[in-house]
Amino acid sequence: MTTSSTTAEPAQGNQARRCAVCEYDLRGLEVPRCPECGAAFNPDAPPPAAVPWLSRREIGWWRAYWATVRLVLLRPRSFGAEAHRAVEVPLGEALRFRVATIAVAVASACATGLLIAVAEGEALLSPATAVGFAIGTAVAAGYLAMATVGVNSGPFAGGSVASDLRFTRLRPFACAGLATSVFVPLVVAFDLMVSRSGVDLFLSPFAVLMVGLNWWMGEVAYQHFGGRFGAARVFLFALMLPVLWLVFAVGIAAIGGLVALFVSLLINL
Ligand SMILES: [Zn+2]
Repeated sequence: MTTSSTTAEPAQGNQARRCAVCEYDLRGLEVPRCPECGAAFNPDAPPPAAVPWLSRREIGWWRAYWATVRLVLLRPRSFGAEAHRAVEVPLGEALRFRVATIAVAVASACATGLLIAVAEGEALLSPATAVGFAIGTAVAAGYLAMATVGVNSGPFAGGSVASDLRFTRLRPFACAGLATSVFVPLVVAFDLMVSRSGVDLFLSPFAVLMVGLNWWMGEVAYQHFGGRFGAARVFLFALMLPVLWLVFAVGIAAIGGLVALFVSLLINL
């Protein structure tokens, strides 16, 4: 895999080098170190994209991960603009972010499932529950792996070959909204607690809906700001994406159902 993303592009001499951690303007410094946050950089290499995840070895993966989630969701314009700057985007790093985000979402789903199972008084150590959990986890992971693979609203229209490449390499970050699934088990726990005292708030469905909305928003905003696709295309993409996710969900649920049926036949043999 090539790590250079500066094909047929003018040198970035006229572009500001921004700190990859805090986006501080790094022009005209004597020492290759950000005066704002202290992160070191190599002045001779093309600067890395200003995505905190790419600096997680310096600032720690926890801080880098959540700073990246905030960037994609709260400042999508800045995030999308990285596709159009002469910066380095290591594809492997973006894919690792996607895997981490899928792991966060699956772990949140598992925690939610466990909470509900405990509240319903299920026997957690029974083979049936264990097998059910294993299948459920595999189905969730398979679904998210498929649904975060990234689709575009059309052929790239944003500019040079290099920016097209960066657009593709940055796209795995656009699934960042899924990370907000960490709040779902908390909301479900709150719902369950409150329902003990006889009040049903039903906040859990809204929490799940919010995660979907954040995911959708991140993907759509990236098409708009990163791909610079026209409004009509982005609008169509925004409508089609949930349909595509639904198709994936039905497909993977069918596979999961078949596996579950097969396993239950084996257990009952
Ligand atoms: Zn900095």
